[in-house]
Amino acid sequence: MKWHRSRDPGDEDRLREEMVEHQIRRRGLRDESVLAAMLEVPRHLFVESRWVAEAYGDHAFPIGHGQTISQPYIVALMTSLLEPAAGLRVLEIGTGSGYQAAILAACGLEVYSVERIPELSEFARANLAAAGYLERVHIHVGDGSKGWPEEAPFDRAILTAGAPDVPPAIVEQLAPGGVIVAPVGDYGLQTIYRYRDVNGELDRKPIEGARFVPLIESAEETPTEGPTRQDEPRHETSDDVEDKEP
Ligand code: SAH
Repeated sequence: MKWHRSRDPGDEDRLREEMVEHQIRRRGLRDESVLAAMLEVPRHLFVESRWVAEAYGDHAFPIGHGQTISQPYIVALMTSLLEPAAGLRVLEIGTGSGYQAAILAACGLEVYSVERIPELSEFARANLAAAGYLERVHIHVGDGSKGWPEEAPFDRAILTAGAPDVPPAIVEQLAPGGVIVAPVGDYGLQTIYRYRDVNGELDRKPIEGARFVPLIESAEETPTEGPTRQDEPRHETSDDVEDKEP
């Protein structure tokens, strides 16, 4: 504690109120359960403690390992697109700081979050524990493009890293009538889409442009066992992606 300036403990509450008012409500997002979650979750506990004021800024923020905690508005937007409701099971790909997972937990969802970088997964676990959300957030280290088959099916899925398409495993692990929110597109610039399962078909609606760090799939091949489904969305291998110009 001795190495950082002492602050008025009320500062974070005020910063959070301003964040919700100026960055989220003013941009037209009116989903009260999401606004309440954004007011409740102490975002500054999801960045290094010396960056408290920046934590409430209107931008993404570095969390180490070349990764970022998403901009508050984008977290709120993607959460409301998921149509959160208490008790739903949601798969998150890209735990990062754990902040998006905490917002989903604050909305009453049971969160299953996968992160490929072990150190970040540990960072998220510590942050979620400090903020009091670990009980409803289950975290796993691995390649999230394979989903979390042991815990499937999921009512909802959210990708917090950009990919050329939603990985087929995530579509397979979605419950009937489920919703996926994902930034899809080229490296460095994507569109946030909402996908909805309607009688086994995936409807897709473009929502808004965004910039996310890329989803990085592990190089190892999954063993091909049994028949593969032919009706999945197109899916490029990580080799194809690496050959492209960024
Ligand atoms: N949701 C996070 C933001 C995550 S940034 C938050 O609220 O802070 C995107 C994260 O996706 C990074 O932590 C990155 O390591 C992770 N990621 C990238 N590719 C992945 C993959 N294939 N599987 C799991 N996590 C992945």
